[in-house]
Amino acid sequence: MPSPVDILRTVFGYHAFRGQQAAIIDQVSGGGDALVIMPTGGGKSLCYQVPSLVRPGVGVVVSPLIALMDDQVAALRELGVAAAALHSGLPPAETAQAERALAAGRLDLVYMAPERLLGERTLDLLAGTQVALIAIDEAHCVSQWGHDFRPEYLGLGLLAERFPGVPRVALTATADDATRRDIAQRLALHDAPLFGAGFDRPNIRYHVAHGERLRERLLAFLDTHHGTDSGIVYCPTRRRVEETAAWLGGHGRTALVYHAGLPAEQRSASQRRFLREDGVVMVATVAFGMGIDKPDVRFVAHLGLPKNVESYYQETGRAGRDGLPANAWLGYGLADVVGVRQLLAATDSPDERRRVEQRKFEALLGLVETTGCRRQALLGYFGEQLAQPCGNCDNCLDPPVTFDATQAARLALSCIYRTGQRFGVSYLIEVLRGGNEPRIGALEHDRLALYGQGRERTAAQWRAIYRQLVTGGYVSVDVDGHGGLRLTERARPLLRGEQTLHLRESAPDKPRRVRRGGSAAVADADQTLFEALRAERRRLAESHGVPAYVIFHDATLAQMAAQRPRTLVEMAGINGVGGAKLERYGQAFLAVIDAVA
Ligand code: ADP
Ligand code: ZN
Repeated sequence: MPSPVDILRTVFGYHAFRGQQAAIIDQVSGGGDALVIMPTGGGKSLCYQVPSLVRPGVGVVVSPLIALMDDQVAALRELGVAAAALHSGLPPAETAQAERALAAGRLDLVYMAPERLLGERTLDLLAGTQVALIAIDEAHCVSQWGHDFRPEYLGLGLLAERFPGVPRVALTATADDATRRDIAQRLALHDAPLFGAGFDRPNIRYHVAHGERLRERLLAFLDTHHGTDSGIVYCPTRRRVEETAAWLGGHGRTALVYHAGLPAEQRSASQRRFLREDGVVMVATVAFGMGIDKPDVRFVAHLGLPKNVESYYQETGRAGRDGLPANAWLGYGLADVVGVRQLLAATDSPDERRRVEQRKFEALLGLVETTGCRRQALLGYFGEQLAQPCGNCDNCLDPPVTFDATQAARLALSCIYRTGQRFGVSYLIEVLRGGNEPRIGALEHDRLALYGQGRERTAAQWRAIYRQLVTGGYVSVDVDGHGGLRLTERARPLLRGEQTLHLRESAPDKPRRVRRGGSAAVADADQTLFEALRAERRRLAESHGVPAYVIFHDATLAQMAAQRPRTLVEMAGINGVGGAKLERYGQAFLAVIDAVA
């Protein structure tokens, strides 16, 4: 038997295992079961791919999404691995060919959906061949608690009996305690050791922008950090998706749309382009994302607020699977807070459920409003302690300025009270700033003592104060009517002068590094070469009919751009250049380095 490290180096071209990979691979290669919980980008695939190559026989991989099996298989074939998929989307001739290869023991890995694996035909076929292991990917799909429950996954409990002695490994990125127990129980993995890797995604940098003109600020952020990168922009509604995509398109971006209201063909065409081309921005609702295996998504942006911290973590987690620097940017204002609250109030779920959802949303508000380290807050939510501030979030890099807002808050609260607790923020600000909104005169609100008392602050500053009073729970928003503000119990001590309050100054974004265009993946000095290498990759990918990252990942090209290998031997030292790829592509990329560097 070859050793796992030999396989890692010769086939995958990687120098070393990461984190728990070595321990998991030893366990499974030795014939043991395992339950693997690793965040997205942690490197789960190698945990079953390497043992499949180490052990005699074929590795069977269960995956819920046929859409992505093909790309996985293409990637393995590029590495020189005998891989195939069995799914309903394949032409009969290809299915027959894959089945023959499987029966003859010529496959290293075969991917299939659970219902296919559990079909009598497949079980018979596998009974006659040697099975190296069974990997159950996205194992949380077996749990009814989870968000992606798939009834077909329940049948996988049978595998223990049908394939005694064959190691089984279940893998997932999302599993709280309840789901974890569920997976172990339903897949009959009672004695399987658990390999957990924590939730942190250290290469993702978190940013939150508050206030107004968010679209413009997002574009400025992208222009500064992601001139040529691919990424996702999540919007809360289909309309906002359409508008944002059109607007980004008008500013020179290749922006595609994806939401559940579009015909299936258009959705899959967009998804395909996003996976295959460089520099595409996908503007989407949360309908987009499940099973997006693209490793080089360099940013995930939110225009508006996700429903809860779990969603935020999942959605931002689609950035930077390849481990290179990536950004999670979120922009929102008071209207977004009100929007989500309205949505939560309008759902007709039972009260108990609704209360849970509301609590979860409040926790999200805590995260986006915090002036402390965001990563500490995020991991803390999942019960994980990070001892030191991370140094890689907006609050760590640019500590927010706070001010004593006690007086301002009292004025803002009084204004709500004195005008009868029924007006929205814009009107209240008009009153505070002494504006001449027609209703003010009609209602004699210009006679209030506080009329015009807030002139020294801009409307944007008052908006920021109101937003923080709402997210801090001092003020509630009438979610059934027109968004009128009301005081809550919490406002009392503040109004009575028994409490002081510090709030975040509403500061305009300061770009940290001003860089025109380019990619966040590489240093400024390497941008030109990196883009040339990407162009070569694009050319090869098109001629092979595979996604660009199947040829080489960004991480590999970034290392080439930084180290500039001049010979095939030097090229072989780049992480991600294995034997098959060196032979196929080494020369082509050396030529680019020669020409450009
Ligand atoms: P997951 O399925 O856990 O989200 P993947 O298996 O897709 O993660 O791996 C994420 C990325 O990390 C891929 O680009 C993969 O090639 C890369 N990777 C995984 N393990 C290693 C390693 N030991 N060395 C270098 N790159 C690795
Ligand atoms: Zn931090």
